[in-house]
Formats: sequence, C-alpha cells, structure tokens
Amino acid sequence: MNHSTPEQPADVVARLRATFRTGRTRPVEWRTGQLRRLREMLTEGGPDLAAALHADLGKSSAEAYRTEIDFTIREIDHTLDHLDQWLRPESAPVPAHLGDDATAWTQYDPLGVVLVIAPWNYPAQLLLAPMVGALASGNAVVAKPSELAPATSAALARLVPAYLDTDAVAVVEGGVPETTALLAERFDHIFYTGNGTVGRVVMRAAAEHLTPVTLELGGKSPVFVDRGTDLDVVADRLARGKFLNAGQTCVAPDYVLTDPETAPALERALVRAVEALFGTDPAASAGYGRIVNERHFDRLSGLLDSGRVAVGGGSDRTSKYIAPTVLADVDPDAPVMREEIFGPILPLVTVPDLDAAIGFINDRDKPLALYVFSESDDTRRRIAAETSSGGLGHGLPLAHLTVSDLPFGGVGESGTGSYHGRYSIETFSHRKAVLEKPLG
Ligand code: NAD
Repeated sequence: MNHSTPEQPADVVARLRATFRTGRTRPVEWRTGQLRRLREMLTEGGPDLAAALHADLGKSSAEAYRTEIDFTIREIDHTLDHLDQWLRPESAPVPAHLGDDATAWTQYDPLGVVLVIAPWNYPAQLLLAPMVGALASGNAVVAKPSELAPATSAALARLVPAYLDTDAVAVVEGGVPETTALLAERFDHIFYTGNGTVGRVVMRAAAEHLTPVTLELGGKSPVFVDRGTDLDVVADRLARGKFLNAGQTCVAPDYVLTDPETAPALERALVRAVEALFGTDPAASAGYGRIVNERHFDRLSGLLDSGRVAVGGGSDRTSKYIAPTVLADVDPDAPVMREEIFGPILPLVTVPDLDAAIGFINDRDKPLALYVFSESDDTRRRIAAETSSGGLGHGLPLAHLTVSDLPFGGVGESGTGSYHGRYSIETFSHRKAVLEKPLG
C-alpha cells in the first residue's frame, strides 16, 4: 500500500512535461495504444462506472452506458478508424518567387501537457471524451473530474492509472483549492467544461501563461415550435431530450417558444408525453434520475412557481427528486427565464410569430443549442440564417452532439472552441506551417 503524501500539482505537471519532452507520446502507435487501453477500461470498468453514476446522479445503468460509457467508446472507435487520415500533412501551393523546387505543407504537432476539467452532469463522458482527442493528438494529460460527482471521480481516479500510461496521464481529484493550484501551473492547453462564471476564472488563469483555452459552457437553449407541426411527435422528442438525466444536460431544451394558438395543444401533448415516458408517478420510474445535490435541488424548487403547472410540480428533498415539470403561461421575465434551468422544468412562453421568436432569441446570450420544430423550409432557413448558436437541431434535441463528424461547442456566452472527432485533433494540436527549399 502506498502511504506517501499525494503528489503536488506542480510535481504532476513537471513529471508529465518531462515525459512529453522525451517524445514518448508523439508516435501514433503510443496514441492508438492509449486509446485501446481506454477502450478496455470502459469495457472492463463499465459496471464500476455505471454504479458510480447511479450513486452520484441516480442514473440507470442503461442511461449510463448510452450517454457516457458507450458514447465514449464510439468516440474512441471513430478516432481509431480515422486518425491516420486526420493526421496526414496537407500540402500548400508555393508562390512562384520561391522557385519550382520549394514545397510547403502543414503538419499537426502535439501541444504538450494539457489540462481537462470536467463537470458533474456527465462526469465520465465529459472527462474522457476530451481525453480521447488530447491523447490522439499526442499530448500528456492532467484530468480533473468534478468533486460534485464524488463516486465517479473516485472510480476514474482508480481506473485511469490502472489502464493508461501513468508517466503521461494523471487524474487529480479535488474541488476549488486543488483546481486553483492546478490553474497556477503552465499548461499548453486548458479544456474546461462547466459554467461561465468558472469559465472566466479559467480564462484569467490561462492568460497569465498565454495558454489557449477551450470553454465548453452552457446557458439557455431555446426551442421554437411552429404552427402546423405534429405536436405528439414534438412533445415526445422534447420530453425525452429535456428530462434525460433529470434535465441536467448542457444542451437540454431550456424553454419553448410557440404562438398563442399552438400553446394549449402543445401543453396537452407534453402532459401526455411525460406520462407515457415516466408514468403517473415518475418518482417510481427506474429511468428517471435525481438532482445532483441539495444546493441545486433548492435552486430548482424555487423555480417551480414561475408559471402554471401543467404536469409535475412535485418534489422530495430527501431523495433529491423533482418531478418532470411543464410550466405554461410563463412570463418572459419570470425567475425561471433569468438563468439556465439545468433541471427538469420546461417553461412554455408564447410569442406572436416567427419574427418575435427570432427577436426573443437574439435579445439573449447566444445559446449552446437551438431546436426548431417546423414543417416550413422558409422558417427553418430563416432561423438558421438569422440566429447564432453553438449547434442547431431541426426536429430532434440533443442528437447533433452524437454525430462524431460535427464540431461540438458553443459561441459567445455558451463557449469558445469545439471538439469531437477530427475537431478534437484541431483543438489539441498545433497546425505547424513548414516550408522546404533544397540547398542545391
Ligand atoms: P462543476 O460545479 O462540476 O464545475 C465544473 C468544474 O469546475 C469542476 O471540475 C470544478 O471542480 C471546477 N471548479 C469549480 N469552481 C472552480 C473555481 N472557482 N476555480 C477553478 N475550478 C473550479 O459543474 P458546473 O459548472 O455546475 O456544470 C454545469 C454547467 O456546465 C452548466 O452551465 C452546463 O450547461 C455546463 N455544461 C456544458 C457542457 C458543454 O459541453 N458545453 C457540458 C456539460 C455542462
């Protein structure tokens, strides 16, 4: 048994930097070897991780596999399938004044030692999926799981060193003091997922070392439901997307905009959808999660009277249960509309028409995701052209982030930078410009 004191952040970073400088992480064989080991970790350690996710968030095993474990395995497989192709140098045309024999190209260089800081809501996926890109790019990685999902953090701190190269990959557990100490160190990239307030702390710390950052933040992701849509289909897809992980998903539909004529029928359809998915007593449904802690439970409880309860409204502090809730007739200035909800409460807000909906969205921070349910090509085209958001989903919430060939990230207040698939290679590498002119 190891009784030595835990390694200090400065020592961890120095140790990993020394490894990086030996060139060990650079060969593609090391990178793919680490990805295969990570895959084995997820396969063999999957049950441990699923149990930890259940302890932290009441996630069912099926949901833990679908949204965290298998999700990350898919990201690994996609990367293993395409890495050689993604890393291929790209030649660039050379101007005439350099002569016929000159050649130019770009090549992807690893950055060095990168820091990945993850939040609690998908505490395994949001630590490991960025690590896939960081390792595939040939970096050493310091991984900081969220202290608010303590069982998952402990499981990751146990599993990662058992499978990955401990000279190049380290998990540092802890909360604000530990993260603050880490952020004082010089990294070659910082990849942060979480809220914008801490995002600012991270960016300030990174500025000291001129370290580039990726900030995967959140905010209110709106939904627009047009008239003339099949509201049962809309409601089913909205309820599945919203109430997954008890609404604690960064790209969850935050609120719904629709016109006053459509609103009553949509409300009735949502009531039917919630009952079809979770029964009349969602507390007894094995597929329905819990709120992460008392602080978030109390915050969310305070939002339940921001409108007329169409369905749900119930809660139990002891089990951190808040029912899947739809609020109708919500005022645009109600408390539930002032901050990202990040819980199982879906407000319906009415706007007169499409122009007003576009204005409503553009008056607020640029969202991480925007969802549109419309049969009209013109409406879909106008929203795509006249609004800005990290991602845009027509007809299906959340799913765009499962497409590995799409960049996942925000814009403005919802974040900066992106990842997944080849976009992770862009994020975690330096694209080096090379010119070669023969001496002869
Ligand atoms: P959190 O409280 O777990 O914090 C995230 C990380 O920041 C943790 O690792 C934590 O230790 C660290 N941290 C907290 N305070 C800090 C400080 N003062 N200094 C340095 N580090 C600190 O998670 P959270 O922020 O509550 O996460 C929820 C938010 O994250 C929501 O806004 C959500 O939309 C967003 N989110 C975004 C994505 C995305 O991919 N864009 C994914 C999930 C969540």
